[in-house]
Amino acid sequence: MELINGRYSLDGVDLLELVNEFDSPVYVYSAETMREQYEKLTHAFPGVKLGLHYACKALSNITVLKYMKQLGAGLDAVSIQEVLLGLKAGFEPTQILYTPNGVSMEEIEMAVNEGVKINIDNRSILEQFGAKYGDKVPVCIRVNPHILAGGNHKISTGHIDSKFGISYYQLRHVARVVKLYGINVEGLHMHTGSDILDAEVFIRGAELLFDAAQDFKDLRYMDFGSGFKVGYKEADITTDINDIGAKIAERFKEFCTQYGRELELWFEPGKFLVSESGYFLVKTNVVKQTTSTMFAGIDSGLNHLIRPMLYDAYHKITNISNPTGIERIYAVVGYICETDTFGWDRKLNEVREGDILAFHNTGAYGFSMASNYNSRFRPAEVFIYKGKAHLIRKRETLDDLLRNQVDMDL
Ligand SMILES: *Cc1c(COP(=O)(O)O)cnc(C)c1O
Repeated sequence: MELINGRYSLDGVDLLELVNEFDSPVYVYSAETMREQYEKLTHAFPGVKLGLHYACKALSNITVLKYMKQLGAGLDAVSIQEVLLGLKAGFEPTQILYTPNGVSMEEIEMAVNEGVKINIDNRSILEQFGAKYGDKVPVCIRVNPHILAGGNHKISTGHIDSKFGISYYQLRHVARVVKLYGINVEGLHMHTGSDILDAEVFIRGAELLFDAAQDFKDLRYMDFGSGFKVGYKEADITTDINDIGAKIAERFKEFCTQYGRELELWFEPGKFLVSESGYFLVKTNVVKQTTSTMFAGIDSGLNHLIRPMLYDAYHKITNISNPTGIERIYAVVGYICETDTFGWDRKLNEVREGDILAFHNTGAYGFSMASNYNSRFRPAEVFIYKGKAHLIRKRETLDDLLRNQVDMDL
């Protein structure tokens, strides 16, 4: 987002005009930023064969999926529905890695029938899979390295109490199951969480996978998940992608030499690719001064952007209607009948009723976690592509709320 001559714009599109055209609340995404982020990753790992699968749960609009395919990414899907969306978006089955957690064998069979790559997350399924498919369908195995990435248990998936993956300590048993059924293990996977600060954590986990690899002789790739951090606050430490990339690439090449084959190095970023591309634009309905607080109440709530309430996530807020107004302190709150506070004590250019506020860094886990709570419509989504704003999801209507409801005669 840029401020030029008192007007905020994104890739040349004026944001207040965009709200006039598409109304509020509205999510808007910059294709250009997604491309820049994608290219940062593709350039960060010198000398290795890199495979990037976009974790589409972050933002699953079909146009974004098609754009990721155009950029050259594969897809990381965590449900059979995401697999089907990916196929619909034009991905080849072999470009899709299906990485579910705690799903039934039936759902895994559906994914096998679609021809996508399968990542197995527990021993019970691995045994059933071996009994059913033997060596006919290659698999990847998700290992839990028991490394706590960052400090936030809510978004960390690699720690000792985590439900994800097969414990590193159980790999000897896994190796026996694999041998017994002749399972073709072509990949090892780990995804430690969404908050990794430096190369250290990555490398520690990587060493465990390198050790584990000795029991699996037919590997084609290793997948180190995601966890590339993006900056939410100005002072946030973010993943230094070139530093991490160079260190991992270096260590990975050593490993390949020792393993005796050149494997592919895979990642499955969600947030890194789409978070910073997105802004959520809302309108101020009321400014309310109470004895203790100045509230700015907006035409949205936890139904549209739940990260602040669910994870205590910080999203920077800008009043794009009043860039030169004096700064005052606000609590920005939603219209849902719950306490849905987006931010306390935010210094914003004076907010007047009707002003448009922009939430930054909302491309990832914004719309994709939205709901209809309080029977509110989910917002529209707009994609800025080649300097023009395109509607990629219509705002919902009453028909959408009633769809699938059975209106009984009483
Ligand atoms: C959510 C998820 C990702 C993406 O995580 P980000 O923090 O958005 O990059 C990658 N892999 C798996 C298996 C996931 O569940």
